[in-house]
Amino acid sequence: MRITFNVLAIIACSSIVALVLAAEHPVASVSADAALAKLKEGNLRFASSDVSQSKPTAARRAETAQAQHPFAIVLGCADSRTAPEIVFDQNIGDLFVVRTAGNLVDEHALGSIEYAVDHLGARLIVVLGHTRCGAVTAALASDTAPGHVQSLVRDIQPAVKAAKGKDGNVTDLTVAENARLMAAKIRNEASLGEFAKEVRIISGVYDLDTGKVEWAKD
Ligand SMILES: [Zn+2]
Repeated sequence: MRITFNVLAIIACSSIVALVLAAEHPVASVSADAALAKLKEGNLRFASSDVSQSKPTAARRAETAQAQHPFAIVLGCADSRTAPEIVFDQNIGDLFVVRTAGNLVDEHALGSIEYAVDHLGARLIVVLGHTRCGAVTAALASDTAPGHVQSLVRDIQPAVKAAKGKDGNVTDLTVAENARLMAAKIRNEASLGEFAKEVRIISGVYDLDTGKVEWAKD
């Protein structure tokens, strides 16, 4: 009996420790692989025009008003045709989205991603480029641009170089390279600490014509 009691006491204590730890560092809202499956299913619904009819709902707004548990982080282009919530057929509260023209990763983007992993429990990070990206097209045309657009064309140059000499449409190749390089940058520079081993980082390209996302190998 004493042994049983001790075992129970240990289990009870570890449950309390687990609860305390969970409060400080939320467990994954959804595992990275399950999150990717949800995004693929959602994109299939969107591309086949079979999107959910009831979104976003007031009920979902109420449900998420006090706390958020997004199941994935998406770094996408600011392009008005590529809203991740729409192309993945998701609701408010589902995706933690960071958008810059050319889906470029800067300090603010890294900080936002780290926050979503550490505090919100997201474990999948997607970098989403798209066909006919204006920022990539500008970077292919010139490595200089007026004002702060310069920072965009400058930071896309590594992708321009990586795509050079490859067979295929140069814009499509550069878009894919840029998304892949940004995923690598997150992998190398984001401080994910103890969560790094649970996190999956993958890039993809959204096709403006078909509505489908083509995924790269991560
Ligand atoms: Zn774009």
